Amino acid sequence: MATTSAQQQVDLKATLEMILDNAVQAVTGDAGAIALWNESERRFDILATYNLGRETMGQLLPLLDEVIPDLATSRESFDMLSTLAKGSPLPYSGTGILQDPIIVLPLQYGHEAIGLIYVLRPAEGVSFSRTEQRILAAFAQQAAIAVQNARLAHLLAEEKQRVESMLEGSAEGIMSIDAERRIIGFNSAMEKLTGRRKDEALGKQCISILNLCDSKGNAICHEQCPMLLPGSESVSTFEQQGTIKAKDGRNIEVEMLYSFTRSPTGSPLSAVINFHDISKLVEVENLRTTFLAMLGHELQTPLSLIKGYASTLGRSDGRWDDKVRNEGLQIIEEECDRLSKLVNRLLIASRIESGAMVFQKEAVQLPQLIDKLVRRFNTMTDIHTFEVVFDPDFPPIDADPELIEELFVNLVDNAIKYSPDGGRVEINGKVDDSWAEITIADEGIGIPVRDMDHLFERFSRGRSNSVEKVRGVGLGLFISRYIAEAHGGRTEAFSKFGRGSRFVVILPLQQAL
Ligand code: ADP
Repeated sequence: MATTSAQQQVDLKATLEMILDNAVQAVTGDAGAIALWNESERRFDILATYNLGRETMGQLLPLLDEVIPDLATSRESFDMLSTLAKGSPLPYSGTGILQDPIIVLPLQYGHEAIGLIYVLRPAEGVSFSRTEQRILAAFAQQAAIAVQNARLAHLLAEEKQRVESMLEGSAEGIMSIDAERRIIGFNSAMEKLTGRRKDEALGKQCISILNLCDSKGNAICHEQCPMLLPGSESVSTFEQQGTIKAKDGRNIEVEMLYSFTRSPTGSPLSAVINFHDISKLVEVENLRTTFLAMLGHELQTPLSLIKGYASTLGRSDGRWDDKVRNEGLQIIEEECDRLSKLVNRLLIASRIESGAMVFQKEAVQLPQLIDKLVRRFNTMTDIHTFEVVFDPDFPPIDADPELIEELFVNLVDNAIKYSPDGGRVEINGKVDDSWAEITIADEGIGIPVRDMDHLFERFSRGRSNSVEKVRGVGLGLFISRYIAEAHGGRTEAFSKFGRGSRFVVILPLQQAL
């Protein structure tokens, strides 16, 4: 017989014992047993006994495999053990009475014989009759059905377990709900997605756990739940995109696929819902749109200026004095520099994204590097003053000089850009243990608290009017942070809105490596 779980085996044994009790009494026997055929071991296993001691079972077991099965399939399924197994000692019942008359019937399910039921009578008793054979046949049938039910229950339990472990192991969030939209299944991917434990979710209304909204932010659960949609009786699946609320309050963009089970009249009994997290896709899509809009704007302005000045200065009827011509040429040059800087940043960002960044490290003297770039920035502004102070005997760092320059150019450039009224830009270099700590502080517009968390993300720009007036694509800090981290360091930002900002770059000193 197919293996059953321990509990099912106990239940089946109890049912068979009850059937056997009734059977023995109905055919006025003294003892009996039900044995099931064990296909894998190719032998009978006794599952239920009535008034048979351990010793008797020992005597009966050899008979079970040889004589009794033959008797079960014969038309005259009743006989005397003393005739069937000549020479073998007759068995005693559990109450010590010698047994001889026996009746045996197969437990038949369809065409398959799945076991035997047999009843014994005391030795001096008469042989069983055909009527008793018919009575026992009814009990044999009951027992066969009980065994078959247990097998089916076992198969079902196995199948259920298989499906459950498949759902549990799925990388996609899977949740099932009943007709009242109470959660009846919640896999571990769902726990990860929502930040809620399974035991928190089970039994709760779906709305209280997920708070589903459609892609326009309208709550779905009250009126638009696919379980409630009119005319949806024949629909077995339904797809929808929306957001769910995680336990920490985050909205997560998901694609949902509902699969319904329905009653014969079509009303939904339950639904299994797959949740596919598409937040990354949505984020990439948003980035793409922001990037294209920003890029368009950032390219358009310098190109218009270059084109405007070039065509004006190039007019054959134009008579420009040297001052006007030089100013025009200077603007063209500045705008070309701006474009080249933009292209350079885009290239660095794309190399960072693709992991194709190459570092050529050497000993870099930070005070000299900062001095050089401050001299360059000094020529570009009249309204900012620079103050550079480094600890004496500043040790070198092991770094790619071009990338480290890019890191500080971005920060000093920002200090100027975001201080439109001018002011002091202070650059301090300190040695702290085995670290170089460079601070760039300005007296500019500062950064509102709401922007602080996203400063270093790619294409992230401040959301204030004063930032919008400044040209930029939101890559400078992203690149600077990457370069610092790729050198084993980090960046930090501090600011008081309206009162300037301070960026700190911490890099390991060469001897610490
Ligand atoms: P971009 O300057 O092109 O916008 P960045 O990545 O360099 O890109 O900076 C991201 C955002 O951080 C800026 O849009 C701005 O809001 C803010 N920011 C950076 N540096 C400063 C600064 N020194 N003062 C004020 N805001 C700053």
